[in-house]
Amino acid sequence: MKFWSNITKTLTPYVPGEQLNESGIIKLNTNENPFPPSPKVIEGIKKCLGPSLKKYPDPQSSELRNNIADFYDIEKKNIFIGNGSDEVLAHIFMAFFKDKKLYFPNITYSFYPVYCGLYEITSKVIPLNEKFEIEKKQYLDLDGNIIFPNPNAPTGIGLELEVIEEILISNPDNLVVVDEAYIDFGGRTAVELIGKYKNLLIVQTFSKSRSLAGMRIGFAIGDTELIEGLIRVKDSFNSYPLDRLAQAAGKAGIEDKNYFDYTRKEIIKNREWLVSQLKIRGIEALPSMANFIFVKLDNAENTYKELKSRKILVRYFKNPLIDNYLRISIGTMKEMEILIKNIDEIMEV
Ligand code: PMP
Repeated sequence: MKFWSNITKTLTPYVPGEQLNESGIIKLNTNENPFPPSPKVIEGIKKCLGPSLKKYPDPQSSELRNNIADFYDIEKKNIFIGNGSDEVLAHIFMAFFKDKKLYFPNITYSFYPVYCGLYEITSKVIPLNEKFEIEKKQYLDLDGNIIFPNPNAPTGIGLELEVIEEILISNPDNLVVVDEAYIDFGGRTAVELIGKYKNLLIVQTFSKSRSLAGMRIGFAIGDTELIEGLIRVKDSFNSYPLDRLAQAAGKAGIEDKNYFDYTRKEIIKNREWLVSQLKIRGIEALPSMANFIFVKLDNAENTYKELKSRKILVRYFKNPLIDNYLRISIGTMKEMEILIKNIDEIMEV
């Protein structure tokens, strides 16, 4: 610690969900996609495996940006690519949030306060209402920038696009960042508002709905001025955030729309099945638009431990506001059936 700078001494780093390497684990704790990546992604990566790896990748990920632009019918100049959306978020905090207060919900993605610590940004949390919802009126006419996920994590509750638009209109001098990590599981993306509002920046990822958490591909969509700001920060940090394999995987992944639609619909179907099965057993989940559900239990910590001893990993947050909840990622139908069987056994004891 002798060599640690003062800022390093103050950091409280983010703690990701456990990544156990034992076999036979049912992993429902980090909101990964239970389906493998599209076969076209594997083909795309294989094509890249060769002598070209001796060369640096395209620093701008231009082809991938073009493909994302085609997918959303927007322009390449409105897209920024990073090594996972966590890196995109880090660059956003650095590029835009340093000189002003930042508002976010009290229960939300726990990396936001970590970046505030890293970049010495003053933050103010806004409590969710008693139904665990983001309350629009608390986000109008603020005196600082704003970030929230839509749907929110770990609650899974989504916001209407009209609400986001009102927040944008009432905060013309504040940047509003909408973290859409889980938008493809039933929410409505704010991409159609790009071009209309210069203070909107959207963040998305290939980790959830495109089954590519292992490849680390994230992106932001926004006005060119914002994208240029992000590129300045990226090029002051790491010119080549995405390697050649990741760029190829991302390109093939976004092109395979059929596979994307099939897998996300399956996940939505499995989510609805799981929610209904829990309801039959008297267990309530918050209304989720994500690939996870947030479930209320009297004995959440014990249930988490019991499930873990049965090789089923879910996420338990030791935060007094939510310590009677478990976050359960949606898996395959078989995994959901095994989960329910184990919950039944635990409840019977
Ligand atoms: N935003 C939210 C709300 C998340 O839950 C996550 C996943 N932990 C991320 C961003 C980051 O995802 P990734 O870095 O894998 O793109």
